[in-house]
Amino acid sequence: MDEVLKDLPRRAKDTHTENKKFFTKLKKKPPKNLDVLMVELHDAEFERTDCLTCANCCKTTGPLFTDKDVERISKHFRMKPQQFIKTYLQVDEENDYVLQEVPCTFLGADNYCSIYEVRPKACREFPHTDRRKFQQISNLTLKNVAICPAAFNIVEEMKRRVNL
Ligand code: SF4
Ligand code: SF4
Repeated sequence: MDEVLKDLPRRAKDTHTENKKFFTKLKKKPPKNLDVLMVELHDAEFERTDCLTCANCCKTTGPLFTDKDVERISKHFRMKPQQFIKTYLQVDEENDYVLQEVPCTFLGADNYCSIYEVRPKACREFPHTDRRKFQQISNLTLKNVAICPAAFNIVEEMKRRVNL
């Protein structure tokens, strides 16, 4: 996995223009079965991918924390939400709560998430490749393929399977 992660930014850069063109076309004319196809591609890729050998998302980009996330996780730590925010979070330029630092504070040396059961919604859903109306998050996906090897593979397979 180390080699894969090392090479990923270059591969993402090499495919960026092609991906951008693909997503522009996809947005204009998404195939009817796109939601079903994305779940199929996502599930097949994550059968092969062991996130515990990677954790690149937790190491390089933190999630957004919604108010519900803050409420749930602070309760888990028996902290007041404001105390949790002060200890772990900051507000970014888009006014969202994000981690004060990456790698994520809650990531263990063994790549396990210490708050897995109560982790933020954004962590549960990353890299969002099985979400409905996938064509609507193309800008985010263009970034995620440089971080997540599974997202990279899913987009490559998607380009093979979807004729635009
Ligand atoms: S979701 Fe992607 S980046 Fe995160 S651990 Fe799994 S393969 Fe790695
Ligand atoms: S909360 Fe857990 S899953 Fe989310 S970034 Fe941190 S370690 Fe990773």
